[in-house]
Amino acid sequence: MDRKPWELPQESLKNKTRCQVLVRHAVKIGYLEKGNCEDCGDENTEAHHPDYTKPLEVIWLCSLHHHKRHYPNGPQVRSLG
Ligand SMILES: [Zn+2]
Ligand SMILES: [Zn+2]
Repeated sequence: MDRKPWELPQESLKNKTRCQVLVRHAVKIGYLEKGNCEDCGDENTEAHHPDYTKPLEVIWLCSLHHHKRHYPNGPQVRSLG
């Protein structure tokens, strides 16, 4: 049988979005507990997925450190001088 589009593996953007929706729902129903940022302890966190095949295995990070997980070598600020 052919694979259905919604069963395509991990890399797809759709799956990423699905993971975020699942986490939000899991937090809402109390299945998952929102945590503080692993790096700095900030309470204002977002769910980071190390593995999108495991939608409910997340790391909690503030937006700054979340960004850093995705772009470890990216520019933090535009300081050229
Ligand atoms: Zn942080
Ligand atoms: Zn992330």
